[in-house]
Amino acid sequence: MTVGPVARDEATAEFFGAAAAGRFLLRRCAAGHFSEPSAQQCTTCASTDLAFVPAAGGATLISWTVVWGRPSGDTEPERTVLAIGELDEGPWWWSQLVGADQASLVVGQQLHIEFRRAAEEQEAVPVFVPGASRGGGGHG
Ligand SMILES: [Zn+2]
Repeated sequence: MTVGPVARDEATAEFFGAAAAGRFLLRRCAAGHFSEPSAQQCTTCASTDLAFVPAAGGATLISWTVVWGRPSGDTEPERTVLAIGELDEGPWWWSQLVGADQASLVVGQQLHIEFRRAAEEQEAVPVFVPGASRGGGGHG
């Protein structure tokens, strides 16, 4: 795992508090537009009256890139897939894509958000995982 440590501050406390409980929060303005979690203004109407609301957790793969780690000794360099997903609510979100065979990735495939910790004492960080959200019903 290569999810890095993330620091919590006043602006992100609610986001990481929910992440620790397995919920991914988005910002929503009074008019109902969704913006990414770090937005200070609505990306649609520029309202600054934003509330945190839980996202469904599903996304569609838009694009991705592979980052190679520096080789150490004779071990294989670690490869990290970074993906842009369009969340079910509309905003785009950048994150690591874990558990994916990069050769089989296709634009438009279903992803969902799960949470990973770099270490037990670190914040839970949202990452993309291939496949539909578990919250969507059907077989688990
Ligand atoms: Zn708005």
